[in-house]
Amino acid sequence: MPKHELMEAVASEVRTCRKCALWKERTHAVSGEGTISAHVMFIGEAPGHWEDLKGKPFVGAAGKLLDEMLSNIELLRADVYITNIVKCRPPNNRDPLPLEISTCAPFLDQQIKIIKPKFIVTLGRHATSHIFGKAGLRFSGITKAHGTACNASLLGFQVLLVPMFHPAAALYNAKYRGFLERDFYELGELLNTK
Ligand code: URA
Ligand code: SF4
Repeated sequence: MPKHELMEAVASEVRTCRKCALWKERTHAVSGEGTISAHVMFIGEAPGHWEDLKGKPFVGAAGKLLDEMLSNIELLRADVYITNIVKCRPPNNRDPLPLEISTCAPFLDQQIKIIKPKFIVTLGRHATSHIFGKAGLRFSGITKAHGTACNASLLGFQVLLVPMFHPAAALYNAKYRGFLERDFYELGELLNTK
């Protein structure tokens, strides 16, 4: 099956999924957005208020900041793929529970296997901890992990993992915003050299 059909099959399963309790309060499940030929995949935590209403990832305030960071390194949303570890909004934007993450994870695995990106940028501690765990890497917090890209074997292929602070955290903390800007700058440099 062609890649875009495989991706559409995942999205259509996500839209009607009831595998964990998060389906009950969602407006829309948010599968992901972007190009299946992306070299860079961004993985956030879970949809928030606006994402749930619109069915698209990162369309609220954190999404605006993500767009700004992308444009700083001359990338458009259409050049990358953006998704989350959990596809439905947790009530009141609470953290996703371990069971919700593990139940939803097969969708993300399928998306990663379809795209096979060269770079995976994990946004925030939940996404980073999940992906590091999958790759058998030790995760000792986003403060330590951000800013250092690591080679990893993930789902049977080699990828460069690039952990960053979550843009939502950077909105309210100038120090984190500085880290995010610098980490994006370095991502831009990496993309130019590979
Ligand atoms: N925060 C996330 O982690 N993901 C989104 O899609 C929006 C906000
Ligand atoms: Fe299904 Fe994931 Fe939504 Fe839970 S969060 S209902 S596993 S799509």
